Amino acid sequence: MEKITSVRGFNDILPQETGIWQYVEGRARDIFTNFGFREIRVPVLEKTDLFKRSIGESTDIVEKEMYTFLDRGDEYLTLRPEATASVIRACIEHAVFTFDPVARLFTIGPMFRRERPQKGRYRQFHQINVECLGLDDPRIDAEVILMLIQFLNAMEMTALRLQINSLGCQECRPVFRSNLYDFLLRRENDFCEDCRRRVVTNPLRVFDCKVNSCQAAIDHAPRLSGFICGKCKDHFTKLKEYLNIFDISFEINDKMVRGLDYYTRTTFEVVTESLGAQNAIAGGGRYDGLVKSLGGPDVPGIGFAVGMERLISLMPRGVEEFVDTLDLFIAALGDDAQRLAFKLCNAVRIKGIRSDMDYAGKSLKSQMKRADKLNSYYTLILGDNEIRENRAEFRDMRKGSQVTLGLDRIEETILKLIKER
Ligand code: AMP
Repeated sequence: MEKITSVRGFNDILPQETGIWQYVEGRARDIFTNFGFREIRVPVLEKTDLFKRSIGESTDIVEKEMYTFLDRGDEYLTLRPEATASVIRACIEHAVFTFDPVARLFTIGPMFRRERPQKGRYRQFHQINVECLGLDDPRIDAEVILMLIQFLNAMEMTALRLQINSLGCQECRPVFRSNLYDFLLRRENDFCEDCRRRVVTNPLRVFDCKVNSCQAAIDHAPRLSGFICGKCKDHFTKLKEYLNIFDISFEINDKMVRGLDYYTRTTFEVVTESLGAQNAIAGGGRYDGLVKSLGGPDVPGIGFAVGMERLISLMPRGVEEFVDTLDLFIAALGDDAQRLAFKLCNAVRIKGIRSDMDYAGKSLKSQMKRADKLNSYYTLILGDNEIRENRAEFRDMRKGSQVTLGLDRIEETILKLIKER
């Protein structure tokens, strides 16, 4: 029969890999909790309009990357391409802001974008998302960036660069936009077909274009820094001061507009050289008008997302270091030994010891091999001779040393030895 394979760009995370994923998620939870953030879990499926309205109709994500379908002829639904819109939708729906004007939230889970799969770019990928709603103080921008950097440091990440920019606000961005529009119109021939379309629909998106000639042409374009209003400038200056307080080094990248329309003022990315084209590990920014535009109160917000696949692929401690281990493997030969092993194996499991045994009647040698494969610290060897002599061999698999144990009170003895390790 023909095999059914997974969908292109959708990956399995195998048992030998889940250890590192759990570690990353656990550390994120610990660190974010220290900063006052709490976990929220939102659905992976939302009404399509939610993303159209928040991310923007003329963004790459909405134009060509969303998994959207008509739900049995009823309504258009979309597998979430990002989490911010869903988190805000949930806050509005549950009137979170009426109970508490500030919501510090994080969520971890899969996102879906129909991009061309390549290394570091998948169609289902995972993000750790952080959103802080209700505060527009630049200290919050700095705090959120500090938390991100602390998290990446905890993952022992090196050779990272933090890039920041300001995208201005509803006041100053339109002026910049129309200047940029004029520039792009004059230079239309220097840009690719996609960009020529963007000039009309969403000129800022031209900065995102990956085509080399477009990147070269956009170098001469006006930058928002030339049009930024006093308030936005002040916000950006303060952010830089606060980052300095925590010795966070950063670069200003005034070409960074990020791929979503909802950003205002601060945007940031953490990039690395080691990922080739897909060099962003994390990105985020402020989105002061978004809650209101989704039908909520006029509440400012800022957030970021870390791409888990990219992060894990770059962590200096690799997948192997997080593989699950076993405390005890019981290698048993013969009926009596197997009976004792079965009882013992489950008895110690109940006491909190990770243990396993063989049920396939394999030779002692192959059982020992399996103990090794399962990364067991100890193996209890129960062969015919041992049972006859009312004893067992207890082997330390790391040291290769072995002691003989009497079978009377074997459970207590084993528990004691394992807990002493
Ligand atoms: P974005 O929501 O586009 O700002 O992305 C935030 C982070 O998610 C990026 O910095 C990447 O690390 C990660 N990411 C985005 N798109 C993908 C993808 N298609 N595959 C893997 N990771 C991605």
